[in-house]
Amino acid sequence: MDDYLEQILHLIEEKGYARAVDISGKLGISQASVTNMLQKLDGEGLVKHEKYRGTVLTEEGLRIAGAIVERHQTLTRFLRLFGLDEDTIYRDVEGMEHHVSKPTLEVIRAVADALEGNDKLLSEVKRRIRKELGR
Ligand code: ZN
Repeated sequence: MDDYLEQILHLIEEKGYARAVDISGKLGISQASVTNMLQKLDGEGLVKHEKYRGTVLTEEGLRIAGAIVERHQTLTRFLRLFGLDEDTIYRDVEGMEHHVSKPTLEVIRAVADALEGNDKLLSEVKRRIRKELGR
């Protein structure tokens, strides 16, 4: 469900609307499943269907999707500090974001902030990672 809200928000930001066919393409899920999920989200008051625009988020849907995207960005910002490749970062963030608790996310955010403000420590951490990975 998080994946849906996240993709709907991305699509709305990109194109101004989200259609089932686009959501299905982004998530690699059949259009029938997407339609089912959209009905469920509609029932929970998170999305609504507008005739010429497709699916849009309600205020509550927007709030939840915003938090999901923010979590994705925090995890991405953290992993980017260490020079990992973008594919690895994206794949790992997509996995981690569903499991990370709020307190752990706050830990990661605080560590990212601290490392961003401390080049010396960041270089030391990266040096250790390179050594562990044998690069
Ligand atoms: Zn994500």
